[in-house]
Amino acid sequence: MKARKGLAAFTLIVVAAAGGLVFAWNAGLFGAGAAAAAAEDAAIHEEAALRAEHLAFTQAYLAHEVREVRVGNGETLATLISRAGATPADASAATSSIGAVYDPRRLRPGQSISLFFSRRSGEAQLTGVAFRSEPGASVTANRTTGGFTAREVLMPVTFEIARIAAPVETSLYASALQHGATDREIAALADAFSYDVDFQRDVRPGDEFELVFERFYDDEGNTVRTGELLFVGLETRRGRRDFYQFLAPGDTRPDWYDADGKSARKFLMRTPINGARLSSGFGMRRHPILGYSRMHRGTDFAAPTGTAILAAGEGTVVRASYYGAYGNYVRIRHSNGYETAYAHMSRFARGMRAGMRVRQGQTIGYVGTTGRSTGPHLHYEVLRRGQQINPVNLRVANGRNLTARALELFQIERARIDTLRQVRASESPAQQASLRGGGSSDGAAP
Ligand SMILES: [Zn+2]
Repeated sequence: MKARKGLAAFTLIVVAAAGGLVFAWNAGLFGAGAAAAAAEDAAIHEEAALRAEHLAFTQAYLAHEVREVRVGNGETLATLISRAGATPADASAATSSIGAVYDPRRLRPGQSISLFFSRRSGEAQLTGVAFRSEPGASVTANRTTGGFTAREVLMPVTFEIARIAAPVETSLYASALQHGATDREIAALADAFSYDVDFQRDVRPGDEFELVFERFYDDEGNTVRTGELLFVGLETRRGRRDFYQFLAPGDTRPDWYDADGKSARKFLMRTPINGARLSSGFGMRRHPILGYSRMHRGTDFAAPTGTAILAAGEGTVVRASYYGAYGNYVRIRHSNGYETAYAHMSRFARGMRAGMRVRQGQTIGYVGTTGRSTGPHLHYEVLRRGQQINPVNLRVANGRNLTARALELFQIERARIDTLRQVRASESPAQQASLRGGGSSDGAAP
């Protein structure tokens, strides 16, 4: 536990910046299906921030003495407040007011609590209690005429453009988290690369990744929330790929483009599932993870039961039912004679049925182990004119290329992002080695 900043904590700073408040600990924002949940979450947090904006501390705290006390093993909040010198009645009143906004049982041994006392009449009287409840948030209870009033208050946060450039250690997911990224950035990286990279087989320890994103952190350095993700880079044995986020004129949401302004999106995804999680060490001990072969005719992705499975491309569902050894099975027809199939699902996405149109990246079902399967995984097939083919050999141009004015605007944004990358790299020389060039599109993938 690090020391709090005492009275500074009472300076109320409005942190309801643009983009809503999506907190770092709010994990699990994956895939298109989660977008609505994320938006709802952001709205809730925005509302909380607005509430905090209207709070004001009107009392002067000048005559106060501050005592910092750490929570003892098995100690309740009321006991701690008494131990710090408050009367049992005040300890009880302060604790019950806090109970209305925060469950005191969530306090951990060792956590620091600030207690404020006034000494007007010689003996110390408890006037306030404050502690860090979450990264970027504090709970405070203040004496009012009728007793104590508690609230949860958002803390001042600092903005930066963060850059992470690091090797994959045990897994991409773990390494990115360890360097300060959140699930949001990792999911976005996986999304940008899901068209090119087979996350289960292509990403290995020693590969390198780079993320540039907006980050807000509190006075203890904890990531409170992250903003836009601007840049993703990934170097595997198949080569290095870099993508820049850009909102093209007329589009409603930004997309990923390589240095030449070519969209990261392809006709079909290679990893139609949240990819970053796949390298997180989840294994099928009893099930061989097979790549595409003449015997196997599909690609298996081991993932926890319930992981969302995404439509690899836009198309029409031609089957969504139990299908023998395939278990719960979805088949989608795309253009140009292509189809994709997804097997062993634990369940289908709501409303999934033959005849339904699906968007690329839409959740169609969830990983399971139905049918002839020995562990939770997605069995994924790409078919051309009814024959399974190896998705590595898929050659369908579909990428959108920016042109004319859109391309000019993209080049300006790309230059801005490259400058940010270089500035951040020069600030942390240890990371410089992993910054390759100014973002040339290498396209080394065969
Ligand atoms: Zn399989």
